[in-house]
Amino acid sequence: MAIGLDLKEEILRLKKEKRAIILAHNYQTGDIQDVADYVGDSLGLSQQASKTESEVIVFCGVRFMAETAKILNPNRIVILPDMQAGCSLEDSCPASELKKYLSQNTEKNYYVIAYINCSAEVKALSDIICTSGNAKKIVEQAPKNKPILFLPDANLGSWVMEQTGISMDLWQGSCHVHLEFTRDSIAKIKAQYPQALLIAHPECVSSVRLLADETCSTEKMISYCRESHYKQFIIATESGILHRLKKEIPQKQFIPAPTANCACSDCAYMKMNTLEKLYQCLLNLNPSIHLNSHLMKKAKKPLIKMLEQSKTPISV
Ligand code: 13P
Ligand code: SF4
Repeated sequence: MAIGLDLKEEILRLKKEKRAIILAHNYQTGDIQDVADYVGDSLGLSQQASKTESEVIVFCGVRFMAETAKILNPNRIVILPDMQAGCSLEDSCPASELKKYLSQNTEKNYYVIAYINCSAEVKALSDIICTSGNAKKIVEQAPKNKPILFLPDANLGSWVMEQTGISMDLWQGSCHVHLEFTRDSIAKIKAQYPQALLIAHPECVSSVRLLADETCSTEKMISYCRESHYKQFIIATESGILHRLKKEIPQKQFIPAPTANCACSDCAYMKMNTLEKLYQCLLNLNPSIHLNSHLMKKAKKPLIKMLEQSKTPISV
C-alpha cells in the first residue's frame, strides 16, 4: 500500500465505501480483531453471517468459515484475506472418504452430525452442523432411533459423549493445534500457577481436558473468565483468544498454556490473514468465495437446522 496511509484507517474507510461488514474469529491477530464489526466463535460468526444485510462480507478466519458465510448468503460477496487459510480438521475428513464410509455402512442409517470445521461438500452430506458452542445441544436433539456419526473431530466428539452420556461413532479427525497441548505441558504450567484455573477447548485431548476446570468454546471462555471470581486463568487454545481476554477483562491475568515444544499455540492457517492482506482484499474485493449453487443449497439445509436448534432451550 502507498507509504503514509494508515492501514487501519484505510480499512475502516473502505469498509464504509464498499458497504462491508468485517467478521473475525477469536483466533485472528489483535490488529484484525480491532477493526472488525464482530469478533466471536464459530457459532456467533455464523449467527452474524445469517442476519447481515451488508453487501460484502469480509471473513477474517479460515476458508471453511468464509464458505459457511457464503452458503448462508449466496447472493452476497464473501471475501477473505488469504484463500490458502485451510484447517487440519477439515483436511481430516475429505468428502470422498465420508461418502465411501457412508456407502459401506448403509445398514446403519446414520444421523450425521458435522462439526462446522469441514468442507461445504461434507456439510452437504450431513444431517446437521454443530460448533463447539452448541455441540451438546445439537447432539441432545438428535433422533433417538438412529445411530449418530459425529465428525470430523474425535476429541470434541468424545467430550460431547462424556457430557451427554449419548454414544456416537466418531470420525478420527483432529486439530493439529490443540493436539500439541499435552498432559505434561499442562501439568507443568499448572504447577507454576497453582492459583489459576485451567480453561481448555474441547478440541484438546482427553488427558488435557481431565485437568481442566472448564472445557468450552472460545466465546464461553470470555464469559466464564469474566464471571468467575478467580483472578488467574491458564488458557489451552489458540493464542488469538488472549487478545480479547486481556482487552475485555483487564483486571485479570491470562496465561497461554504451553505446548510440548512452544510457549503458546498458534494456528498457522488463522495467522495467514494479516492487516495488509485484509486491506488488499477489501480494496480489490478479492479473493472471493465461489461455490456451486447446487452444493450451496444442499449445505445450507443442515446449517439452517443448526441455527434453529441452537435456539431451543435444553435442560442439561
Ligand atoms: P470455536 O470457534 O467454536 O470456539 O472453535 C475453535 C476453532 O478451532 C475454530 O477453528
Ligand atoms: Fe482448524 Fe485447528 Fe486452526 Fe481451528 S485451530 S482453524 S480447528 S487447524
